[in-house]
Amino acid sequence: MAKKSSKKIKQTALVAEKNEEAMIEGILEGSPDGIGVVVVRLDCGCRKMAAIAKDGEPASKVIMYRDQAESICPKCKEDNGDFMRVTESFIHWTKPEPTEAEKESISAKVLGTMPATH
Ligand SMILES: [Zn+2]
Repeated sequence: MAKKSSKKIKQTALVAEKNEEAMIEGILEGSPDGIGVVVVRLDCGCRKMAAIAKDGEPASKVIMYRDQAESICPKCKEDNGDFMRVTESFIHWTKPEPTEAEKESISAKVLGTMPATH
C-alpha cells in the first residue's frame, strides 16, 4: 500500500476563527491601548492571546484558553504553552488597521521571538 502523506499544510493567510474572534473582542475591550491581538495556536488545541500596543509592547496579560473547555489542557498547565508547541501565530489587527510598515515592525517585534511555523 502506498503511503499517503496526510500532513496538513495551511496555505491560506491566517485569520481568526469565529470562536477566536469572540475572545479577541473581549481582550480588546479590556485593553484600550491594544491595536491588535497576538493569536498563538498550540498543537494541543489551546490558544494563547495577548493584546499588543502600538509600540509592540504587550497591552494586556497573556490569556490562555481552550475551546469548549473550562480550562486549558494538562500539558499547557505544565509548560504554559511552550513555544516549541506553537503551530501557528499571527496578529489580528483592529480597525482601522495600522499601515503595512507599522504592521511589519510590530510583527517582527512580537512574532520575531516566536516561531511562526514549526
Ligand atoms: Zn493545551
